Formats: sequence, structure tokens, C-alpha cells
Amino acid sequence: MGEIKENTQEPEQKQENKTKIDKILEKKLSRRDFLKYGLIGLGGLATSIYGYKHISGRSPSSLPKIFPNSAPESLWRWSKKALYYKKIQKNILCQLCPHECTLEPEDRGICRTRVNKDGKLYTIAYGNPCSVHIDPIEKKPLFHFLPESQIFSIATAGCNLRCLNCQNWTISQFQPEETTNYDLPPEKVVLAAQKYNCQSIAYTYSEPIIFYEYMFDTSKIAKAQGIVNVMVTAGYINEKPFRDLCKVIDAANIDLKGFDEKVYNRLNGATLKPVLDTLKIAKEEGIWFEITNLVVPTWSDDPGMIREMSRWLYKNNMQDYPIHFSRFHPQYKMTHLPPTPTQRLKQAREIAMDEGIKFVYIGNVPGTDAENTYCPKCGKIVIGRKGYKITENNLNNGSCKSCGEKIPGVWKL
Ligand SMILES: [Zn+2]
Repeated sequence: MGEIKENTQEPEQKQENKTKIDKILEKKLSRRDFLKYGLIGLGGLATSIYGYKHISGRSPSSLPKIFPNSAPESLWRWSKKALYYKKIQKNILCQLCPHECTLEPEDRGICRTRVNKDGKLYTIAYGNPCSVHIDPIEKKPLFHFLPESQIFSIATAGCNLRCLNCQNWTISQFQPEETTNYDLPPEKVVLAAQKYNCQSIAYTYSEPIIFYEYMFDTSKIAKAQGIVNVMVTAGYINEKPFRDLCKVIDAANIDLKGFDEKVYNRLNGATLKPVLDTLKIAKEEGIWFEITNLVVPTWSDDPGMIREMSRWLYKNNMQDYPIHFSRFHPQYKMTHLPPTPTQRLKQAREIAMDEGIKFVYIGNVPGTDAENTYCPKCGKIVIGRKGYKITENNLNNGSCKSCGEKIPGVWKL
């Protein structure tokens, strides 16, 4: 399977801001603050000097906006009538995700994939993935779900978040019309997964919520064929569509990008509460999930915030669900930040374990022993890992071979 072509769009920051910012920052702000603001721009900076705690290039309440009058001229073969919306005369209130876009005819939602055509809501991301790969399941990351298996992975263009540090912005911040796409309707995805001996399919890379109908229909067909479905998501979805989806999805990796509304708003273009609700619903619906927390220096690396987050997880009985603290690498609009220091990640891991979370991993750091699964009872290595490779497996029917402790997860189909 091929890659999508490279995108050459320039990042939004402008170099000329740097000197002005440098001068003010040298006087007013610490090095840590300097890193945080980087080249973001004077708008955000002006606010910072007047004492706001969390600052960015975004104004304090800036959630993303819809794309007015930018629906494609006509629908294409990869369009389908969308689910979850309310009609208000010719306007649409989309109820798929918490943004709840109101769309007049010819408008396009924040996700870039849902459009109002003649007073009806359509998705234009149905059967047209721009990324198709076969990955080790450990890459999602899922460490307690069918280890060492290969997972057939797809994504279309679009996203309902606007993370300044997006790793996949060349697909997430584009419209399906702008990417090079495969023609893979749901039944063909399932056939391809079978052909490549994958026992699971991942809806991943960008944000699968924005191709909900495609993911749902594919999952339904896959499930009937004995193939399991995995969603890798930021979890920014409304309750009803998510509960419906849980009937056909088996596992998820859900991002918890921070534990602070302001960080979610300004770093990710979203809000925190719906993500916490998604975690609670995933647990109630009985799907297996693991949490990823990308530790972004100066944004989401505050030890106090990580402790609060861990406490919330424990309080909500999620201590058996793994959390992956993942290393940030400078990209997209965050190229001025350094990669997360390994020490910060280790500290995050210690805090979470100290708060009672049983399986805490560090991701994107080669050569750490924090990729292994340790038995919470006897402390021995249950599954040893090096990158995406399994180096040892001491599980016996889902339990620790040494002491018999049951290790939570889905180890076999
Ligand atoms: Zn043990």
C-alpha cells in the first residue's frame, strides 16, 4: 500500500515576529514561558504579559469554526447521507461531536467531512481513505490487546480537533478532496484485512469520528466476519453516536491530551469534559481501551496536572486501563519546542503509578524499560517489549506465569 504524497504547505508562524517577541520576552518571561510562546505571535503574547496563566496564539475561547459556503459543488461516489443531525428548515445542526456545528446549505463542518447539501447532511468521507497501512498493533498503541498481531489501518482526511502539535496534520488538516485517496468501500476494507491476515482493523491516523459512517459500516461487516475493530481517537464525540459505535467496536486508544480546559481549548481546539465522558462510556460499554497522554513541554507536562488526571482515572475505577505517556517531537505549529525530556516522562509515569494506575508506559523513547508490562503483584516482567517488538511473553491464559495474577486486557480472540 502506498503513502500519500508530501504536503508542502508552509507553517503559519511568521519569522518576522521573532525579533519583537524576543525583545519583550527577554524582559518579561522566563525561559520556560519563552519556549511555550515560541513564534506564536504578538496577539497571544500581549495577553500573556497581562497575567493569563495559559496563553497561545489562540484567543481564550477560540474553538474551531465551520467552513462557510465550502461544500463541494456536487456530491461524489464517496458521499453518504450522514447520521446524527437535526434539521432546522434548510439548516443542519450536526450532533455527531460536541462542536455541534450549525450548517447552512453549502456549509462544511469543522471536521471538513460533513456538508449541508440542500438541507441534508452528507459525509464525503465514505470509502476514500488516504492512508492505508498494515501496522503492528503495538504502534496504536495497544499493549493489552492481541499483542504481536498485525492490524489493517485506514484513515480519511479531516479532523474535528486542531492540535497545534498534530503528528498527522498533512491528512488531518486537509479536505478529502485535497488528498490522494484509495477507493475502498467497507466490504473491500474487510476483504483486504483478510487477504493480509489481519485479525483486526484500525480506524486511526487522523480522527475516525469524522468518518463515522464509514467506520461504523466497515466495523459491522468486519465483526460479522470475526474481525475485531479498533478505534484510535481523541474521543471528542457525543454520547449517543459513541454508545452506538461501541456495539461494533472492540477496543480503542483514547487520547487524554491534558487535564485542563484551557490547554484543551488552546492546544487542541476542543474541550476536556466530553473526552472524560467518552472514557466513562467506553468503560460502561465494556470495550477495552488504553489512554495516550502526549506530554508536550510547557503545555501538558505539569506534574500537578498529571497527578490530578491520574487521580480522576483512579476515582473512576480506571486503574486497570493502561496509560501511555508519549514523547512529543517538534512538528506542525510547535517546531519551536524541544522534544519532551525523558526525565519528564519518567516523572509522569511515577506520578501515575503513585496514584494507583497499574500499567503505565512511556512511548516514543527507545531503550527504556517502561515499555514492558510488569505484574502488579509480583513485579516480574509479564510482556517484554522493545519498540513494537515483543521480546518475551510470560502470560499464561491472561495471567502472570510467576504468581497467577490476572492481567487485564484482551489477550486472545
Ligand atoms: Zn506476578
